[in-house]
Amino acid sequence: MLFVFVMAGVLWGIGHLMKAPVQARLYMLGLLYIAVLGVQIALPEGAPLREATGGSPALWLLLGAFVLLALGYRAVLTRLRGRAEAQEAMREAAAPAVPKGPFTDEELERYARHITLPEIGGGGQRALKEAKVLVVGAGGLGSPALLYLAAAGVGRIGVIDADVVSLSNLQRQVIHTDAGQEMPKVFSAQQAIAALNPRIDVRPYNRMLTPEIAAELFADYDLILDGTDAFATRAMVNAAAVAAGRPVLAGAISAWEGQVTLYDPAGGAPCMACIFPEAPAPGLAATCAETGVIGALPGVVGSMMALEAVKEVTGAGQGLRGRMLIYDALHGEAREIRLKRRADCAVCGGD
Ligand SMILES: [Zn+2]
Repeated sequence: MLFVFVMAGVLWGIGHLMKAPVQARLYMLGLLYIAVLGVQIALPEGAPLREATGGSPALWLLLGAFVLLALGYRAVLTRLRGRAEAQEAMREAAAPAVPKGPFTDEELERYARHITLPEIGGGGQRALKEAKVLVVGAGGLGSPALLYLAAAGVGRIGVIDADVVSLSNLQRQVIHTDAGQEMPKVFSAQQAIAALNPRIDVRPYNRMLTPEIAAELFADYDLILDGTDAFATRAMVNAAAVAAGRPVLAGAISAWEGQVTLYDPAGGAPCMACIFPEAPAPGLAATCAETGVIGALPGVVGSMMALEAVKEVTGAGQGLRGRMLIYDALHGEAREIRLKRRADCAVCGGD
């Protein structure tokens, strides 16, 4: 019997030297086994060759059965492992982009500094992703507001403006570029937002806001940011927002001073008409074009509008309902005034 094992060893060794694949070497061993078994069965008991290779077929049959059992066990294991791997691969293919909750890995990294804040967290970031915010005016206040809303991950951002970018805008309207002169502001803003955060759904409306379209447009958004500078436009935004039941984050700037508040009669805060019921006399409310405006001021106030919008969407902190923040840039001071609803307000009163 030893003779057979030595032969098997020699066969295996030759196969190894010839770099024959393991399978081929196993075939050789299989052939040897069959030959030996043949000798055991065919030759009569006591024949020298039969004696030299074990003397009885029983041992060989036992060995064969054992090897068959081992091979069968291995085959079953291999098949099970293959099936498990295939299932795993299918699971991965079915959900390639969203492995953890509602965010992709890219979003988790992009918004990591938000998600870390306990006041925002994953829930707040998700609310931002689902939020729809409309910015009226892509000028000084709209520029930083749009950029920060986009950076913060506000899912849908609408922007309405009928102007084109002009050279004198670039001193403060930082969303636009020198190369973008003469381009409609909403498309210039759309390009900048796409470059900053391509996941944002930007809706540019290259037109004047009118009462006719305001009602329908505002209904499509959760929150309106008003960064316009003409009283008539602001009054129109206010009336449409009150009618649609939408809060308005209003920012305003002139020369060295800026202010920001949240008008929301539906939430118990005044509307703009509660505070400014009538248009100021001609000459009292000059626009930036007439009085001038310091360049970084809209950056401060527009960024505050974006920040208050993020708070409003996520529910973080204390908003500006019924409070107006006033920033005096020339003296480096800020103060706050309390605002109250007027029962006889022509726009939101009567309740
Ligand atoms: Zn009012």
